[in-house]
Amino acid sequence: MGHYHGRIVSTCHTAKRLQRYGESVFATWSRLALKHGAVNLGQGFPDFDGPPEVIESAHRAMLDGHNQYAPMPGIQPLREAIAADFETTTGVQPCVDHDITVTSGCTEAIAASMLGLLNPGDEVIVFEPFYDSYPATIAMAGGVMKHVTTRPPDFGIDLEAVEDQITTRTRAILLNTPHNPTGHVATQEELRGLAALCQKHDLIAICDEVYDRMVFEGDHVSLASLPGMYERTITLRSLAKSFSLTGWKIGWSIAPAPLTDAIRAAHQFLTYAVSTPLQHGAVTALHMGDDYYTTLRQDYLHRRDLLCNGLAQVGLKVCRPAGTYFVMCDHTAFGHQSSESFCQHLVEQIGVAGIPPGSFYMNPEDGRTLVRFAFCKTDAVLEEAISRLSRLQHH
Ligand code: GLN
Repeated sequence: MGHYHGRIVSTCHTAKRLQRYGESVFATWSRLALKHGAVNLGQGFPDFDGPPEVIESAHRAMLDGHNQYAPMPGIQPLREAIAADFETTTGVQPCVDHDITVTSGCTEAIAASMLGLLNPGDEVIVFEPFYDSYPATIAMAGGVMKHVTTRPPDFGIDLEAVEDQITTRTRAILLNTPHNPTGHVATQEELRGLAALCQKHDLIAICDEVYDRMVFEGDHVSLASLPGMYERTITLRSLAKSFSLTGWKIGWSIAPAPLTDAIRAAHQFLTYAVSTPLQHGAVTALHMGDDYYTTLRQDYLHRRDLLCNGLAQVGLKVCRPAGTYFVMCDHTAFGHQSSESFCQHLVEQIGVAGIPPGSFYMNPEDGRTLVRFAFCKTDAVLEEAISRLSRLQHH
């Protein structure tokens, strides 16, 4: 047993179910970006602020004394605004009292869904590459993750491969659309196919839709809006991306009462309730109206094209995303054997941080040729990144 800077290094106290996940890839690469003074296109957070009226409204709520615990499922005006937003975007009217739960970001809603729904050994099907919290929260709940791999350039869903993964232990399919990190937006055909599989095999759909307002090609359609699907679907959304407020950690779930009961069974003991004044701010956000979302989408379309054109010019093979604020590229032209080695070179020598997507795959080798960049950054920052990347040498 050795001591190193006051820390005992040879003892691992982390529970076995979590040991394999290590440090989150986003924390690692943000730390490296800072250390090397690199432009950070790794972790996805905007480098600009959310709407001032939303921020003012949270500020006002604090000054007005909204500083004690919120009700466990969220404050009434926010649940009303969420219900209205869901109805506008899906045509389905959820019950304000029984179907909506405000959570500490969508991340808590994912964890609460897994912990609230899964019995040990229950299986959940996810699409690979997957967001890193999915396997970790399924493991926390004692569940088993099954996966279906999607491949570049369009990362579409192979419905037969999904059916092949279904067993008698399958409880749920976890769908993320628009998809982080690939930018894939589920097509009508994919959604119809998944709906049919859920109905045929009596599965729950868990839909992570946090990038629903960032769609550049096609339309975002919620699985919950398809016939017969609302009753078996949990839809998860948040304020973070749509309002450039990732640090507020305000998310929510929408699901019929029996599924919401399961989510709340976990939520009440995970966080109980989330920040009261920020929930008041969130009400203002959800009342901003269509013009706000139109501008948001146009701004992101501009940023997507600015970065994608720059990356292509530099010689990366760009999988131009239909949605989200991420882009996946193939870096093989630069002769690196792994995405870690390519990203290491980028952050240390070129001064740009990206994310090597290995931790989004069961077998990190499968992501070896890819790198993810985020374009939720101001033009000047994106331009600086492109200018630095132009120093990359072809192999
Ligand atoms: N969602 C963000 C991303 O994909 C990361 C959030 C986090 O750091 N946990 O970059």
